[in-house]
Amino acid sequence: MNRSVHREHTEREALVETLVAKGIKDEGVLAAIYSVPRHTFVDPIFERRAYEDSALPIDCQQTISQPYTVAKMTELLQVKKYDKVLEVGTGSGYQACILAEMGARVFTIERHLDLLNRARKMFDKLGYNIASRTGDGTVGWSEYAPYDGIIVTAGAPEVPQSLVKQLADGGRLVIPTGSQQSQSLVIVTRKGSEFGYSEIGGFKFVPLVGKEGWQK
Ligand code: SAM
Repeated sequence: MNRSVHREHTEREALVETLVAKGIKDEGVLAAIYSVPRHTFVDPIFERRAYEDSALPIDCQQTISQPYTVAKMTELLQVKKYDKVLEVGTGSGYQACILAEMGARVFTIERHLDLLNRARKMFDKLGYNIASRTGDGTVGWSEYAPYDGIIVTAGAPEVPQSLVKQLADGGRLVIPTGSQQSQSLVIVTRKGSEFGYSEIGGFKFVPLVGKEGWQK
């Protein structure tokens, strides 16, 4: 192993240890965080910071989420192999690859074509088979519904009812909601015709912009 590859693996191990110390327990999530090369999703000037536990800027004034946030949301989603999962907010493509690495069948929507084109290149380069499109993800992707999991990686004023309607029986939706300054992660679970809601505070995302999100 050459020196830079060795450094990168040491940094990935350190990141996984940080996430364990912060309470992430799901072994599948931790293994995916270790496996997916986060440094390839960021601009070269941020590569050296790719395994720090922090959000980083990407194009179109958006961000690649903090690894802890990615891990926590993925853990809350309780992803199982072959689950059909919809992600709203492709961004860099990193979260979609974490889900695909865990064996989910991933569908992802992004409103900025430039970001989606770059993310698609990453899916191809890393060999993940992920369905993607541009558009307003606040109304979901009805063509492939229902989903076992729906994850929204931008902050909404409230839970979009179109997404709730696209949950499969037994499915889970994880979405940050609140003001544009701070949000809680809301977890919606469906059992038959019953929907349960719970939430965890203390998160900060870029806004979810669309019909059932913020109006810019
Ligand atoms: N999951 C991303 C990753 O792994 O890099 C991080 C995404 S970033 C925090 C949030 C993304 O949501 C941005 O790329 C933004 O353009 C996108 N977004 C905001 N509103 C959207 C909408 N209505 N539909 C689809 N994407 C949206």
